[in-house]
Amino acid sequence: MLDPSKYSPDRSIPAKIKRRLTLWHKAKPMLHMPQRGIVTFTFDDFPKSAAQHGMDILGKYDVSGTYYTCTGMLGHTNVMGEMYDEGDLDTLIKAGHEIGSHTHTHLDCAQVSRETVREEIETNLGALAQMTDASPRHFAWPYGETTKRNKAGMDDLITTARGILPGINRKGSDLMQLTSFELTPDQWTSERAAKAIETTARGGGWTIIFTHDVREACSPFGTMPKALEGLVRQARDAGLDILPMAEAYNQIQAEAA
Ligand SMILES: [Zn+2]
Repeated sequence: MLDPSKYSPDRSIPAKIKRRLTLWHKAKPMLHMPQRGIVTFTFDDFPKSAAQHGMDILGKYDVSGTYYTCTGMLGHTNVMGEMYDEGDLDTLIKAGHEIGSHTHTHLDCAQVSRETVREEIETNLGALAQMTDASPRHFAWPYGETTKRNKAGMDDLITTARGILPGINRKGSDLMQLTSFELTPDQWTSERAAKAIETTARGGGWTIIFTHDVREACSPFGTMPKALEGLVRQARDAGLDILPMAEAYNQIQAEAA
């Protein structure tokens, strides 16, 4: 499981239908449409290059991102390159970035019981608490996979959970399976994210973007620095708020009050 390129969730038609149905079952609907458009840049697992280049790029625009950390991947190397170490966590936190939760073993949460998912999150949070003084409340489902049952009743552990199905988050979106736009080396993924940013600038909402490694010769799960920077610049120029998950969530809650 610790090399996500070696595992792929079921892509059959019934599995795809089930995935859509899961998205339609809202565990925790967003009660308010963000009037001020928000964009959040997130990095999953995460590779060292996401820390280094992601931090350089976001720092250039004086904004922060969210790093969903799979503690079992600490110090590993896989197709996405060298993974983070404790020093990277420290550097990111000092630079104002957010550490998010992403399970300990990067398991497919649609294939296990809710108890197992909870244990995984607890182990992940426990390991993070030993390495940092961060106490993450925002989570991303590995492979974006979850079920109606497993995303319900998680409030005591996590405040939001991000999935990987595309879409701009609006009133009624599920805070336990937030939609997001993947960035890969395929140019259409950058174009799709750029369109979402444009739409968010026009009509509000919350656009979340996710990727893995950030480097010139990126993996099929990552992106090139210039593609990432193009989107950060676009969001900034459009006057959108570029916020990590916790701040975005808090702003939406405050706006709703
Ligand atoms: Zn992941």
